[in-house]
Amino acid sequence: MERTLAIIKPDGVKRGLIGELISRLEREGLIIVALKMIWMTKEQAKGFYKVHAGKPFYESVTDFMCSGPCVVMVLEAKRAINTYRKLMGATDYKEAAEGTLRRDYATDIEKNVVHGSDSPQSAAFEVAYFFNELEILKR
Ligand code: ATP
Ligand code: MG
Repeated sequence: MERTLAIIKPDGVKRGLIGELISRLEREGLIIVALKMIWMTKEQAKGFYKVHAGKPFYESVTDFMCSGPCVVMVLEAKRAINTYRKLMGATDYKEAAEGTLRRDYATDIEKNVVHGSDSPQSAAFEVAYFFNELEILKR
């Protein structure tokens, strides 16, 4: 089993898409083993996206991520990372494949509704960034 970190970003929460997005990922066979709603500080958002420090969109995306509450989840499945990345679609919703979450719900390259870890290394960092082991269901 593999774990990945998923986030419903502030735009998804504000637009009332939590239930819809969770249904879509559950239908894909991704099991929720941890879940909470948080409102990140700017510092927490900067730490979360530190791999992007120095890029032109870093300030703006970290402002966006702390502009309202997010739902953060740990998902588990055999190939959770790739399965969820595929379900999310490309960063730019205009390039996202038909049937993906970003294609269906995103409105902007930045306000793209969902986040998912992109590698085993980033999943390990991101899961531990928001959850301790006691908060994650052992099945
Ligand atoms: P995420 O990490 O949120 O799952 P991603 O892996 O598809 O998204 P990254 O390259 O990691 O894309 O970018 C992180 C986030 O920064 C994007 O989801 C988006 O919100 C924002 N972002 C990325 N590229 C741009 C850009 N060119 N202009 C504005 N915002 C961007
Ligand atoms: Mg990313």
